[in-house]
Amino acid sequence: MTKEPNRLPTTEIDRFPCPNCSKKVLFDPIQSGKELSCPHCWEKFQMPATELGLLIQIRDDTAKMCFWIQQLFWLAFFLLIIGLFISFILFVVVDRLF
Ligand SMILES: [Zn+2]
Repeated sequence: MTKEPNRLPTTEIDRFPCPNCSKKVLFDPIQSGKELSCPHCWEKFQMPATELGLLIQIRDDTAKMCFWIQQLFWLAFFLLIIGLFISFILFVVVDRLF
């Protein structure tokens, strides 16, 4: 969500008229606010952002964020295990030395 495209108040649009050839283009909410080529004239244009599209984007962003939080959690867990292992080894070594 870098730039704010002109949003439409409607939540669902089936077909969107191409700004170049005015032919109807099948609208997928996933493509909301994204640039795509018209299947009729191949001219590139930006799909309007819809509330549904924004929701899908937010859902995807949240899913991505959750993925990285999960990765960080596993990294922290891994480091904790390594830390415990190292301290255990040190404990054993120090115990043998003295
Ligand atoms: Zn077109």
